[in-house]
Parts: sequence; C-alpha cells; structure tokens
Amino acid sequence: MKKKVLVVGGGGREHAIVDALSRSPQVAKIYCAPGNAGIAGLAECVPLKDTDVAGLLQFAQEKKVDLTVVGPEAALSVGIVDAFRAAGLRIFGHTKAATRIESSKEFAKVLMDKYGIPTAGYRSFDDFDQAMEYVNARPFPAVLKYDGLAAGKGVVIAADAAEAEAALRSMLLDGTFGKGRVVVEDYLTGPEFSFMAFVDGERVYPMPLSQDHKRAFDGDKGPNTGGMGAYTGLPFIERSDRTFAQKKILEAAAKAMVAEGCPLSGVLYGGLMKTPDGIKVIEFNARFGDPETEVVLPLLESDVYEIFSAVAEGRPLAEPRWRRAVTLGVVLASKGYPGKYDKGAEILGVDKVGVKVYHMGTKRDGKKLLTAGGRVMMLVAEGRNIRAAREKVYAELEKISCEALFYRRDIAHWALDGQLLDGKALSASIKEELRERIGKLEIKYGRKPSLAVIIVGSNPASQVYVRNKVKTAIYVGMNSRLITMAEDASEEALLQMIDTLNRDPELDGVLVQLPLPKQINEARVIDAIAREKDVDGFHPMNVANLWLGRPCTIPCTPKGILRLIDQSGIDLSGKTAVVVGRSNIVGKPVAKLLLDRNATVVMAHSRTKDLKSVTLQADVLVVAVGKKHVVTGDMVKPGAVVIDVGVNRDVDGKLYGDVDFVDARLRASAITPVPGGVGPMTISMLMENTVECFLARVEKK
Ligand code: NAP
Repeated sequence: MKKKVLVVGGGGREHAIVDALSRSPQVAKIYCAPGNAGIAGLAECVPLKDTDVAGLLQFAQEKKVDLTVVGPEAALSVGIVDAFRAAGLRIFGHTKAATRIESSKEFAKVLMDKYGIPTAGYRSFDDFDQAMEYVNARPFPAVLKYDGLAAGKGVVIAADAAEAEAALRSMLLDGTFGKGRVVVEDYLTGPEFSFMAFVDGERVYPMPLSQDHKRAFDGDKGPNTGGMGAYTGLPFIERSDRTFAQKKILEAAAKAMVAEGCPLSGVLYGGLMKTPDGIKVIEFNARFGDPETEVVLPLLESDVYEIFSAVAEGRPLAEPRWRRAVTLGVVLASKGYPGKYDKGAEILGVDKVGVKVYHMGTKRDGKKLLTAGGRVMMLVAEGRNIRAAREKVYAELEKISCEALFYRRDIAHWALDGQLLDGKALSASIKEELRERIGKLEIKYGRKPSLAVIIVGSNPASQVYVRNKVKTAIYVGMNSRLITMAEDASEEALLQMIDTLNRDPELDGVLVQLPLPKQINEARVIDAIAREKDVDGFHPMNVANLWLGRPCTIPCTPKGILRLIDQSGIDLSGKTAVVVGRSNIVGKPVAKLLLDRNATVVMAHSRTKDLKSVTLQADVLVVAVGKKHVVTGDMVKPGAVVIDVGVNRDVDGKLYGDVDFVDARLRASAITPVPGGVGPMTISMLMENTVECFLARVEKK
C-alpha cells in the first residue's frame, strides 16, 4: 500500500526532503507543515507551526500518516519525536535528549572530551566578568558560542577585546538570545565542510560531503547568515580525511550517544574543519543542514522513504547509493539580509529556470510569487564537475528578475580558487637561504657582500623602500650603507658620490633609489654606476646583455616575477604570455625573460585596441600598468597564471593591484595577491643580485 508522509518544516531543506520523497515509488501523498509556495507544488501544505507538537500529532493521527520526517532543530528540541513515539507513531528524528548534541553546546563539548572526539579547546561561562577575563588572557580571535539554539547565528568570532565584550554582553547580559551560557573556544584555521549521515544507534550511513558559505558577501565577507550557497565534491578533502571523519567523529559520536543512554535516530551533521592538525569538530547538529541538504539529497539514488522508515523503526539498512555527479547551489536572499529586509517583492522568471529551485522564504499572491523571508530560494544544478555545475547555476540565475534580491557570485571558491602565489612566503625562504649562504661566503672569502643605497630627497614612499632594503641587507648578513642626500643636491654631487662608491674595493653593489629630483638626469646617473656594481640591472650594458642573451644582472622585479611564475608549476615553453605594460624596468625585461623560456610573448600597452581580447589569450598574464583593476575577472582566461605587479594606493590608503583579485582568482589557476606578491620578491632578488655581484668580483681577483 502506498504511504502517506508528513514533513515538518517550511524552508529549502524541507523542500529538498519533499522533493526526494516525491521520487519514492512507495509514497502516495506528502503533507508539509507549514511548507511554502514551492513545496506546495509537490505536497499539501498544512498551516501548522513546526513546534506545535500537539497540533501536528493530532493531524498525523487524523490523516493516518505512515511516517513523519522532522526538518528543523526547534521541533526536535521541544520533543516532537518523544511525543509521536509515545503515541505509537513512526517518526524520523532524534529524541529531545539526543538533540542535546546540537541544542547544548556544552553537552556536545563534554561528550567530545569524554570520548576523545577531536575538537577545539574550550571553557564555558554564565558569568560575564569571568568570560571576559578568560577571553582576555588568551590569543585573539576568540570563538564565542551561545549555549542554546540560535538558528545558526549564535556564534561570534571576536577579533579583539572590544568585539568580544560586545558579543558577550548581548549573549550574557542583554538577554538578546535568552538566558544561557557561553562556550569560549580556541580559534581553528582551515577549510570548513559538512559531513552528514543517517544514524540509527551505532549504525552510521554517510552522505556526500558538502560545503556551506556562511558569510553574506563574496570573498567570505560580511555578517554570518544561515548559509548563502553550497556544493558537493570537495577537492580538498582526501579519502583518508573522509575515512577519519567517518570513523573517529561520526561513528565515535554515535557510539558515545548510545553509551550516554540517548542514542541518535535521525541525521547527525558534523560541522568539521580540516585544520593543520587534522580534522576537528566545530559543531554537531541533530538534523539535516540547510543549505547542504539542497545539494546533497538530489544525488541520492536510493529510496529516501526506505531510509527514513528503517531509521525510524531501528532496523538495519542497505548502504544508500549516491550518484557520482557534483551539485552546486546558490541562495537568493532579500537585500539587507541577515539584517532588516523588506518582504513582498515579486519574483519573475522562476518558471523559465532549467535547474532545481528550492524555495526557502516565498509565498503566493494569486499567480504572483513573492519574497517572504531573508533567504528566499536556492537554485541547484548538477554537473560532471564543480566548474560545470557552477556555470549552469549562474547562467540560470540570470533568468530570475527581482530587484529586492542578491546572491553571492563566488560559491565553491574554496574548490576553484587559483593557487595563491605567496611572494611574502617565497621571499622569506629565499632570504633564509641567502643568510645561510652569506655566512659560508664570509668564511670562504674573508668578508661579507656589501651594498650601498643612495637616496636623494625625502619622498616618503622612497624612504620606506630604502629603509627596507638596508634592513633586509643587514638581516641576510651583508654590510649595508645608507647614504642620504638633500632634495636640492646637484647632479654633480651625486655623480661624485657614485664615483667614490664605484672605486671602493670593499663595496659590491650601488643602488640609487628612483625617482630622482627634477634637477638630476636619471639616465646619466644610471650610466654612471659601475656595470659590475649595478645590482638593479638598469645599466645600459646590463640591458644590452640581457637582450643579447649574454651574462648580466637581471633587474629585480622581472627576476622575482619569473620566480613566482615558476612557483605555479607552469612549463612556459610554447605557452602564450601576455605582458601588459612596456616600461624599461618591468614590462620589457619580463617579456625578454619569458621569451628566453620559449613562451610566445604578446605585449600590450596604452594604445592596445580591445585589451580584453588580448588578455584572454594569455596562459600567463603579467600586468604592470599602475591603474587599479585595469584587468577584471572576465579578462582572464580560465586556468591562466596571473602576476599582478601594480601597486595602487586608494583614497582610503588601502593597496590595490592592477587586477581585480577576487574575480580573477575564480578563473586563474594561480595568482599573486597585492600586497604580498611581487613586492616582497623585488627586495629578495636585490639581495640575490648583490651576492652575485660580490661573487663575480671576489672570484675575478
Ligand atoms: P610605467 O612606467 O608607468 O608604465 C606603465 C605601462 O602601462 C606603460 O607601458 C603604459 O603604456 C601601460 N598602460 C597605461 N595604461 C594602460 C591601459 N589602460 N591599458 C594597457 N596598458 C596601459 O609603470 P611601471 O614602472 O612599469 O610600473 C607599473 C606598476 O607596477 C606601477 O603600479 C608600479 O608601482 C608597479 N611596480 C611594482 C614593483 C614592485 O616591486 N612591486 C616594481 C616596479 C613597478 P604606454 O607605454 O603606452 O604609456
């Protein structure tokens, strides 16, 4: 006989549950309380609140419902399962006692401690002063979790004491959340992911892994929300990570709950993090995640009714089967969410969408579909890989029009983001190697390499650059001299100084910081530095030798750029490299170095027509223009290696590159950040050049 099912809840998660049930050959009729405008297409919506246990029980008895499936945590924590079971009705979900694994953060922490389930260190408090004292005595950021149900929003990551105080006040003193305790946890780092499983006592049937996006805006910025999108097929979780999480976390928790006398019977959701010290639990939930369910359940091949009823009855189950495809979903939310937002805006175009649409907060007014919540709906596409699924979803999103909605454009960025070419880290390791090498050279040759840096005038940016150069030279173990000349120093005086330094037998490198004051001719100064002491590689003989393919000092920034490109692992031979900018110090020498590596080099500049059509050819794209975001994400060929040389200071004092990093990173296979990319490399290459000049001089003698 075909079955009647009641689903409790009315969001996107419940829409996905109803959708999965509607595919079951055993199910004849689905009720959903309270449901929503989307669910109404598949189920009969019943105007009962999810926490109205008496009303729901009466309804289930009257309609002779065969099985009830509970979505939201609120219904579980008021004991809906206990009440239904007491009345002899079949229900999928945990008892009130078992739901404490989610509803009490402290219960979960104590459980994990007792049974050795890996998680962050913590303490819990109900006293504001004691909590503040503990937080202040530990490193920031601090993770503060309200110990009670707060619909996914009771967690604050406080960057400093002021943020911690504000959060603890609202959690413990103002009563914003209700009366409760706060768990203060150590801050862990690494990608977070969700691991859900159907659990019946000690039996655990895992579902595909997924990842949520909690923050409201692109780049994981803005306030925490209920979740702005999710996807499956996480490339950064290896098979061994998954096995560990299944055995040591989900199965261990299921066993622990049995041992504690409150066995699980429903969905266990592990909010996990892949930290440098292994997989750890951030939180457990006692139900399907939202929006994770919307991307996970569409992959289920087995009959979901069979799974729900076996767990509800406590009988073993054949391992559920899942399709191998990947799903990706993007949430459309009301502008202003998670703060204040308006409801009642008309949504057009949903009927034209060719992928799954799960409604979260919608309602119908006659034929019109209106917004009725913070998170409004989620579009979910399936694809053979994440990129394909993502392209499909974003193309379909274009069909929906509603001024009152917004969505994130970077769902799955953790999986698709280009590798970060970290110039700061690479430069630091080069400096360490140089330090060791210079120590040995001093023993071998009886003296250290030595660098003189001349600055004329008081240009603040130049002052910072020269100070850094001198400081770094000393750090790596060289001798370093800083020579400061007045703003109005004559060209003659500068040339004389250079001549003295050129003749100094103990000096290996001479560098004049550019730009120079107006009265001094830069070219004459560059020409005056002895070629063998030209650590910048600007002398005409060095430039000529570079282009002739003869031994020379390679200019620092281009040399650092090549090192960063090498860091990406790309083999340049036969690849198309586009260099935007043709200055003597960056663009031209970079182009020559790329040519030497057998790349096909294209140079673009201010007169280039249709820059986008040129940059889109680039397997390697080097941008040295000096204009904020002259290269946008859509100008980057998918999979390209992108090197951003530009340094642009905005009115707010913030540094920006020439490339729109957030968008470009989504398409690039590897990209440099600004700051922290090319900049730090320039200085370590200067140190390397000084050592090379030193070696050439000491070995010639
Ligand atoms: P530059 O001498 O001013 O040259 C800029 C180049 O960009 C020129 O070739 C110019 O073309 C081209 N250009 C200007 N507008 C353009 C546009 N809209 N489209 C395409 N090309 C355009 O600059 P630079 O000395 O090479 O420096 C470039 C940037 O890199 C600056 O932001 C600088 O601060 C930075 N930089 C950083 C480092 C570091 O260590 N991080 C080192 C050096 C430079 P035309 O030739 O046709 O005028």
